[in-house]
Amino acid sequence: MKGYDVIVIGGGHAGCEAAAAAARYGARTLLLTHTLETLGEMSCNPAIGGVGKGHLVREIDALDGLMGRVADAAGIQFRLLNRRKGPAVRGPRAQADRKLYRAAMQTMLRNISNLEIRAASAEDLILKDGIVAGVLTADGDEIACGKVVLTTGTFLNGLIHIGETKIPAGRMKIADGVEAPSIGLSKTLYGFGLTMGRLKTGTPPRLDGRTIDWAALEMQQGDDPPSPFSFLTKKITTPQIACGITRTTLATHAVIRANLHRSPMYSGQIASTGPRYCPSIEDKVSRFADRESHQIFLEPEGLNGDLVYPNGISTSLPQDVQLALLATIPGLEKAAVQRPGYAIEYDYVDPRELSPALEVKAVPGLYLAGQINGTTGYEEAAAQGLMAGWNAARAAGGAAPVILDRAQAYIGVMLDDLVTKGVSEPYRMFTSRAEYRLTLRSDNADQRLTKIGENGGIVGSDRAEALAAKLAQLDVSRETMSSLNLTPNEAAQHGLAVRLDGVR
Ligand code: FAD
Repeated sequence: MKGYDVIVIGGGHAGCEAAAAAARYGARTLLLTHTLETLGEMSCNPAIGGVGKGHLVREIDALDGLMGRVADAAGIQFRLLNRRKGPAVRGPRAQADRKLYRAAMQTMLRNISNLEIRAASAEDLILKDGIVAGVLTADGDEIACGKVVLTTGTFLNGLIHIGETKIPAGRMKIADGVEAPSIGLSKTLYGFGLTMGRLKTGTPPRLDGRTIDWAALEMQQGDDPPSPFSFLTKKITTPQIACGITRTTLATHAVIRANLHRSPMYSGQIASTGPRYCPSIEDKVSRFADRESHQIFLEPEGLNGDLVYPNGISTSLPQDVQLALLATIPGLEKAAVQRPGYAIEYDYVDPRELSPALEVKAVPGLYLAGQINGTTGYEEAAAQGLMAGWNAARAAGGAAPVILDRAQAYIGVMLDDLVTKGVSEPYRMFTSRAEYRLTLRSDNADQRLTKIGENGGIVGSDRAEALAAKLAQLDVSRETMSSLNLTPNEAAQHGLAVRLDGVR
């Protein structure tokens, strides 16, 4: 029986970062996931970053994680959100080509040494004297290891709802059909006596772009030039596209109100809590009854292909109602649906069961990261994955965990919130959660974290050298500035602003 230092279960955003971080640290790592094609799949919106979330991506990047570089390779519309507000709350965001994102993630993973990737379903965990010792697959293979990082996302006892229809599944496939849920591991976790619960999330129908009346829509361009996520990316080379903007109408709201009793969230079919800040269109129409319309961004899912993601109308209403409500929206009157919107319920573990290193206190050697800890979002999942994979690898090698605190990083804020306060709804990152947000900017994540990552064994020499060069440039600029007695306007006239601009 071949053994590994660390086995990561799940190839979503948490799993990919966990496996990459463990392997970068030098641990013999196995990434076990249902299928290799879905490694790095974006289950919902094909976009990375945003306010608060963009800070997490830059922090992941500063620790040599993958998400920033992958998003740079796949981004088809980059925008810095909150540009008119102060630097502390500006959030980089990119809409991504879904296929390019998966491909870039898979290429990066394949190029990491110490990392093996295998398609298999994990069914159970093997314990020796109460400590994690391996994984049992659905094929009956027993794989020995020192530590396990579990990142099962929405698959843990997942149940899809579309109107009155219920389907046990982890998520819908983009093409057709569903991906199977993870039932065995849910039983394993309940068997450990952990406090667990159920949460829900939802996604909008996917539209056929050829049936949208684009000429009737306002179009939104991205930033020119686009600014990358990664401190290592010099330039975005992927072609950039525009998105359409439309709005729901009073007629849309009438269709929704007339059919609320058929929505699983309102009929009582779903009792679990969803993300308050990412509400379904049913929720928006009910909770903000005085609003006459809600904005919808029509985001193409890629450079090639016709799939469009209508951001803002997540729904689990029955399919006939989904079609009826689309017909009331300007530009979408004739829109054909390629895949219906749906809601999904899944099991999560109360994150207060975890240590700050994301290890289950009652089961030494077992680490949890991502949606399984009650969070929502790719960025939140990836940041936890990086920390869990890093700390699992360190523990396997006998080193103490690395814990980032609330003054050092948004990652520190999130992990502290999770393990001390738990969650009552899917947790997502906001700048308002960080009491030190004036100093935790997205543009200085490398200065805050790269050295910690280097000392902690997960930052490679390229990144360490890039930071050293940047710090040296900053020193020169600061010395120049302090030797002068100029107002900002005078400094700009002398070309100093240009020099500082080159130092991000
Ligand atoms: P996932 O991305 O779910 O990945 C889990 C991985 O684990 C998959 O690769 C799966 O194949 C693998 N896996 C599971 N069980 C096993 C097993 N037993 N053996 C081997 N492999 C296994 N986020 C938002 O921020 N806002 C939203 O509005 C939103 N809506 C969503 C709507 C839907 C319908 C879904 C499905 C997700 C939505 N998300 C949303 C959530 C977002 O997709 C997740 O937060 C993010 O993908 C979580 O990442 P993860 O790595 O934890 O899990």
